[in-house]
Amino acid sequence: MLLTRNIYQIFRTHRIISKNFNYNLRPLSSISDAKYKGNYDIIIAGGGMVGCTLACALAKNSLFSTFKILLLESSPYKQFELRKEYSNRVVALSQNTKSLMSSLNVWKHIEDMRLQPVKHMQVWDACSDALISFNSADNYNDDVAYIVENDVLLHAVNTELNNTDNKNFNIVYEAKIADYTLPNSEEVNPKSLVKMNNGDTYSCQLLIGADGANSAVRRAMGVQYLSWNYDQMGVVATLYLAEETDNTTAWQRWLPSGPIAILPLDSQRSSLVWSTWEDNAKRLLKLPEEQFVDELNDALWKQYPRSGAVEGCMSWVSSCLRRAGLPDGAARQLPPSVQGVASSSRAAFPLAFGHSTRYIANGVALVGDAAHRVHPLAGQGVNLGFGDVKELTELLADATYGGFDINDPSYLQRYESNRQRHNVPTQLAIEALHRLYTVDLPPVVLLRSVGLQLTNALHPVKKLLMSHAAT
Ligand SMILES: Cc1cc2nc3c(=O)[nH]c(=O)nc-3n(C[C@H](O)[C@H](O)[C@H](O)COP(=O)(O)OP(=O)(O)OC[C@H]3O[C@@H](n4cnc5c(N)ncnc54)[C@H](O)[C@@H]3O)c2cc1C
Repeated sequence: MLLTRNIYQIFRTHRIISKNFNYNLRPLSSISDAKYKGNYDIIIAGGGMVGCTLACALAKNSLFSTFKILLLESSPYKQFELRKEYSNRVVALSQNTKSLMSSLNVWKHIEDMRLQPVKHMQVWDACSDALISFNSADNYNDDVAYIVENDVLLHAVNTELNNTDNKNFNIVYEAKIADYTLPNSEEVNPKSLVKMNNGDTYSCQLLIGADGANSAVRRAMGVQYLSWNYDQMGVVATLYLAEETDNTTAWQRWLPSGPIAILPLDSQRSSLVWSTWEDNAKRLLKLPEEQFVDELNDALWKQYPRSGAVEGCMSWVSSCLRRAGLPDGAARQLPPSVQGVASSSRAAFPLAFGHSTRYIANGVALVGDAAHRVHPLAGQGVNLGFGDVKELTELLADATYGGFDINDPSYLQRYESNRQRHNVPTQLAIEALHRLYTVDLPPVVLLRSVGLQLTNALHPVKKLLMSHAAT
């Protein structure tokens, strides 16, 4: 009895006990038996949305059922509770992410909690009449995207992880990693060492860095990392809309200071992602609620100064499109009016670009933001990370099925090539959009407006865009 109470006390102290989540969770300081030390086949550093999903994909795959897998997450275990209020951190998930989550049985847990399908999306320029709209009808009647709270997604993945009967899978929360020692590039049976702050050391055949944009695994790999700050922050908040509707449209208006996006949550609430210059973001956070809402409505509705030359050219383009029987962008919908903001829901996050020139090293791989970071203007960041998860899991399964080592260089190389072939063009396209839209010089406004209007009018081009964003 006393022993049981002591064990409970240890768990409580490290805040990792959970009624719903009874993995082999234990605080690192209490790990002393050989089961939790020594060699693992795979160690995943970082249990964010991408790391946990990768762990789930590996733990559920019978090909890896004999593999010892360890997930190390530095933050404490958080007990999840679905509250009436929405979290201010949400992501727009693509159809491909939905497929991945469905294949892992995670999607049904998300549906059981909550998500909002996006059936229409309207993106428009504040400096001209150009717009582009996406509809589920253009997408084989599939929803354009799904808005899901980060916590809901993480909980759904953890619930499914909890349901697996894989006894070789362990998670450690509050894992403080001190250092990595990675094998050199020539080593034939590479092993990475993960040294913890308390002196414990783990070794593994394959180390996967899912530890986010400031990845320590990436630093230990010594690879080139191309990165820059946008001097912008993403202001997020939960908004109350003035009118109740079915609210299945995602709105994004390009202001000269960055895009403002209103993502649907339910019939009366939406989530804000307002990318703006750092000083302005900090000012917006401090504004009294009423003033914040006024500025928000201004950002959605205000008429910005326009160039006569741009207006003239755009009306000529529109009339040509009309004559050719193509959509001229006149069928625009009006964005919603915002009535209020949920208390304490305002927050801001720094925005930056990041590209790791290598996603792999001998016995090491990177996934998610550890490998690539993008501006949230296209809602692609975590979707790219889930694409990494899918590709890496499939290739590791192929290697295992073929009798190769889990860290076989040729399979890791294929992972890197396949993902960079998708991720790098996506990153470049997002970067180009960011640069194109933070300039209000008339020739640039004209160029992008004509481009947007033509893309909107040419159905096959729009479809191509949608299918790339979905993968
Ligand atoms: C305002 C905003 C809006 C966004 N909207 C969208 C969107 O609509 N759609 C979309 O696809 N993406 C969106 N993104 C991007 C998305 O949030 C990220 O791409 C995603 O969170 C990356 O997930 P990750 O698991 O790779 O990294 P992270 O979320 O950074 O997770 C890394 C994890 O590793 C842990 N960790 C770090 N270091 C260590 C260590 N040394 N040891 C152990 N654990 C460690 C951390 O605690 C964390 O849990 C948005 C981003 C922002 C800022």
